[in-house]
Amino acid sequence: MTNIRAISTKPSVFKDTGYAVRVESPGRINLIGEHTDYNEGFVMPTAIDKRIILRFQKNETDNYCRVYSETFGKGFEFHLDKAFTKAEGWENYILGVVKELQDNGAKLEGFDCIIESKLPLGAGISSSAALECGLASGLNALFDLGLEDLEIVKLSQKAENDFVGSNCGIMDQYSSVMSKPDHIILLDCRDLKAEFIPADFRNCKLLLLNTNVSHSIADSDYNSRRAECEAAVEIIQKELPEIRSVRDLNFEILDQFKDKLKAKMYERCLYVLKENERVLKAAETLKSGSLKEFGELMYGSHEGLQHNYEVSCKELDFLVDYSRDKDFIYGSRMMGGGFGGCTINLIEEDKIDEYIDEVSAAYFAKFNIKLDAIIVQPDEGTKIFKE
Ligand code: ADP
Ligand code: MG
Repeated sequence: MTNIRAISTKPSVFKDTGYAVRVESPGRINLIGEHTDYNEGFVMPTAIDKRIILRFQKNETDNYCRVYSETFGKGFEFHLDKAFTKAEGWENYILGVVKELQDNGAKLEGFDCIIESKLPLGAGISSSAALECGLASGLNALFDLGLEDLEIVKLSQKAENDFVGSNCGIMDQYSSVMSKPDHIILLDCRDLKAEFIPADFRNCKLLLLNTNVSHSIADSDYNSRRAECEAAVEIIQKELPEIRSVRDLNFEILDQFKDKLKAKMYERCLYVLKENERVLKAAETLKSGSLKEFGELMYGSHEGLQHNYEVSCKELDFLVDYSRDKDFIYGSRMMGGGFGGCTINLIEEDKIDEYIDEVSAAYFAKFNIKLDAIIVQPDEGTKIFKE
């Protein structure tokens, strides 16, 4: 028996504009460091200037909650005291966060929430983390729960892992909440130590090209990549107990164990080790302003994701390859979990419009799919407004 009931109209308590709390919860980009977060490695994300807006109001009911997504034109109602069973789709992000809050002892009451969004879904910009963290932040403010930012980050990730069933790392939630304006985060996903590097891209901008494909294997393959890495660590740990994650390996150790690992496991670990190296180099090149070198590292990341980690797809590869002979594009790679979604491109600003036209036409000619282009700006994390 499920604890949710569909609703087709917006909760009336808002009377269109009224709200007690409003949250602007950003999507994120990741410049480099893909599939490294759950291996306790390094990433370079930041929140962006595209957000999900969530409005909240207490509804004075007996613990009924109503959540309505303008994006989908529908909503659902659930009761705080009834058991939460897994639903079909987006409801799980909501239920998962509310369950985590309640499991952590938060005293919630009936509330209404309306969601609007400027973030494409499933494009690798992490609309899911924006939704989870936005909901957790809003309820934190509405009910004065006193949660710290990092608690919001962790419980949102746990909701996605345990309730939604996607074994994502910490990067998406961390960057959606903790980003600072005009900075890129260099995050060590082991101890969550963060360095904020000024996002000075000089004459360049960050351009996302959305393939508008999302291959259905994405969720299961994401989880299986993680499982392969963890299985490799388990094998190595038997002889080297100090190895706690792929992060602790180095190339010599990995080669020592090559025969004991399945070929795919070896490839996955090799990619993660090289990617961690690339991220640390990328941070240095960003600090020194060597954008061309930074771009080369982005291409290196894509090649690893394509050949060693095997999470790219023909549409992403096409876009990255298309950029290669353009001297006004310094770097390009797939971004996010893979199997679809966006590429991120470091491109000279004055060439952007022309390039979007050209690459869109080429993409359409090849795949018969419309390409979407989004210019993004690094931005601060969650913004919360109380009436
Ligand atoms: P990504 O996080 O890269 O956008 P995911 O597949 O992880 O891709 O998350 C997308 C899912 O998040 C959507 O399919 C939907 O379930 C949920 N979601 C995101 N934005 C909204 C929204 N505005 N309203 C309702 N659900 C949303
Ligand atoms: Mg997601």
